Amino acid sequence: MNPRIGVFGGTFDPIHHAHLRMARAFAAELQLDEVRLIPAGQPYHRDSGPHASPAERLEMVRLAIAGEPALRADDREIRRPRAAYTVETLRELRAELGPAAELWFLIGGDSLAQLSSWKAWRELFTLANLAVALRPGFDPDHLPSPVLDEWRARQVHDFSNRTASGTIRPLALPPLDLSATRLRAMLAADEAVDGLIDPAVLAYIRRQGLYR
Ligand code: ATP
Repeated sequence: MNPRIGVFGGTFDPIHHAHLRMARAFAAELQLDEVRLIPAGQPYHRDSGPHASPAERLEMVRLAIAGEPALRADDREIRRPRAAYTVETLRELRAELGPAAELWFLIGGDSLAQLSSWKAWRELFTLANLAVALRPGFDPDHLPSPVLDEWRARQVHDFSNRTASGTIRPLALPPLDLSATRLRAMLAADEAVDGLIDPAVLAYIRRQGLYR
């Protein structure tokens, strides 16, 4: 059988409970062999405030997924000396995996709404399938029209016919209202974040003195 590989890119500043449940649902719902979590090297949209370095964000991802064989940290975007675009990462993975592999890219509903501003965004569909994790407030009817056209044309609910790329599938996972921005604010205010961040990641944040 062709390999089924999931890709989950993000800033992961820090990686949190919503990311982890998304990654697990992604693997389970699409029956993936593995999900690669790829922290972004140089994110181009950032709010102000204290942030972790690329190496620290990668380490937090590693700590959060330790002991979960289906989830794997991938440092390729951190190693790249310049800003990494998703399309370049997917081109690279497609070249490594070959044309027959099923490649899936996971994205949150808020990011989907921004998709048409991404570099070479339509090429994403020639490289991978798209899985969408709904986020509170996400309304497909309010997608910008070029993305809405793809959303309508490419959605597949019957997975007996799987393809290497080109389809869109919304995850069944119920939306969860949690963001790294809110967690950074809670950490800065010394509020309890139990249950929202993996305990090993929280211990690392405390040790490194992050987000204070
Ligand atoms: P920030 O608040 O710093 O912008 P974030 O919590 O949105 O961070 P990112 O690392 O930027 O986290 O997100 C990586 C991916 O995960 C994106 O595709 C984003 O849409 C998605 N994502 C993050 N949190 C959620 C959530 N609660 N529900 C659905 N998707 C999410």
